[in-house]
Amino acid sequence: MTLMSKPMGPIPPGFATIDGELAIAGVRARDWVARAGGAPLFVYDAGLIAQRMASFRAALPGIGLHYAVKANPLAPLLAFMADRVDGFDIASGGELAALQAVGVDGALIGFAGPGKRDADIAAAIAGGVTLHIESPHEADRALEAGARAGIAPRLAIRVNPDFQLAGAGMRMGGGARPFGVDAEAVPALARRLVAAGADWRGFHVYAGSQSLDAAAIVASQVATLELVARLGEAAGVLVPRCNLGGGFGIPYHAGQTSLDLDAVGAGLAQALATRAPILADTRFVVELGRWLVGEAGVYLAPVIERKHSRGETFLVIDGGLHHQLAASGNFGSVIRRNYPLAIATRIAAPADEVAHVVGCLCTPLDRMGDALALPRAEAGDLVALFCAGAYGASASPAAFLGHGPAREILVGAG
Ligand SMILES: *Cc1c(COP(=O)(O)O)cnc(C)c1O
Repeated sequence: MTLMSKPMGPIPPGFATIDGELAIAGVRARDWVARAGGAPLFVYDAGLIAQRMASFRAALPGIGLHYAVKANPLAPLLAFMADRVDGFDIASGGELAALQAVGVDGALIGFAGPGKRDADIAAAIAGGVTLHIESPHEADRALEAGARAGIAPRLAIRVNPDFQLAGAGMRMGGGARPFGVDAEAVPALARRLVAAGADWRGFHVYAGSQSLDAAAIVASQVATLELVARLGEAAGVLVPRCNLGGGFGIPYHAGQTSLDLDAVGAGLAQALATRAPILADTRFVVELGRWLVGEAGVYLAPVIERKHSRGETFLVIDGGLHHQLAASGNFGSVIRRNYPLAIATRIAAPADEVAHVVGCLCTPLDRMGDALALPRAEAGDLVALFCAGAYGASASPAAFLGHGPAREILVGAG
């Protein structure tokens, strides 16, 4: 009996074929590996990221575009972003240091995160970063740090809303959460921050991640506008800035399609046109991670072994979940489904076999592709795993089993 193949997600647009091989930014995958000094290798195409930004600007004019560093903190990528986005959102002192290392001004940085250390708070205040306060105790610590430094700290409040982004891959708002201050407790806290002399920056509402549903994103933005207007009025404070969150998703799996950005832009524009008077002069920003960089990244890993077991074919790659945990289905997925994958060195060849693509780690968790219809590959061929630009290298357990980290390069930054 032959093994039935299982579907995979769509290969993102923007890649080409040269001489039967996958090309990234106009160069064959194998040549990128040679230039980088070997594989496993993450290649990030800056040209594709720039295209994303241009489509954001066209669809959401006047909305600030922030990059969520958590998605991919590679230094050359941050430097590339620094010239092109309106700000950055970080969630640790390490991310702050990474931005400072490439010369990003603290005034462009917002710092959220449920457990900020005193040292991180002090570094952020000294650097002019806006802290997104997530608890009354954290507010005390920030005000004290500001007083010690002789600086009025830039403070916003991250609100735990009373709604969540419907259908999001990861929910981070609504109900009991470790993130943000419950909406009902926000007005009193906002009044306290302003009275204590903070440089008041407004509100941050993050309702969820990885949504492909424009209507759901708009509904969450509409709810956010209503919520922050209500909170500002209840607190008697202005709202200089409102971070509307993000949640723009990318298609990873079969049956998923790209987010309709124009629909998001149109819905948000309509909501802004009728916003409450208290928000008339508010600056609105959206914070995006994976939507900006996820589809621009490809993880390249050579086939080490082609083997058979009881009638099934396994391609064992030099690579795996220690670099690209999400593709194994072990990063926040309930069920494992195939990411888009190809044999980079035979991308134009017909799929003539069904194979499992597994990593080199000695654990059954390390499966990068399950029962995929692929061209026949041999040891030495390169596997390309797509959608690897976000939550790949930095979100995977690189130390697990001692194979070492992957290489990473940003290409096409010109
Ligand atoms: C993780 C996170 C993001 C980025 O999420 P993406 O799905 O990569 O866009 C943005 N903001 C906050 C607060 C986050 O926690």
